[in-house]
Amino acid sequence: MSGGSGTAVHDPADGAAGVRVPRTLTDELVHAARAGAPLEICGLLVGSGDTVSAHYPLPNASASEVHYSIAPEDQLSAYLRAREEDLEVLGVYHSHPASPARPSATDIAQAYDPEALHVIVSLLGDAEMRAYRIREGTAEEVRLIIEEG
Ligand SMILES: [Zn+2]
Repeated sequence: MSGGSGTAVHDPADGAAGVRVPRTLTDELVHAARAGAPLEICGLLVGSGDTVSAHYPLPNASASEVHYSIAPEDQLSAYLRAREEDLEVLGVYHSHPASPARPSATDIAQAYDPEALHVIVSLLGDAEMRAYRIREGTAEEVRLIIEEG
């Protein structure tokens, strides 16, 4: 089953693959989103390969109910922390306190890294979490594989 090119590393954006996230982490993100509502909360997701192992909460520099942004100095210190902890920065997460777990036009417009995972925690209904990669103005959903205990 080898393709013609390059590495055998699979692409987590490929439908059959996905990104692994422990249940404890998804619970923490929903909890943080609820605690921060009605403002959007945000932070970085770190881990290794296609497995998210932790999140670094960061201030929402926009302090907005419909938008988030991360200050460059906060982003930098989070990257340094990840390096110290020997983890990769896999993407960002933020909450949608009152809208579905789909990237907003602003989310798509401000996404600059096509490899970054964008996790959105919606507090509508029972809360929902979805992940995307955003490339050239198009959001493509990435399967989240929730790992229990
Ligand atoms: Zn958003």
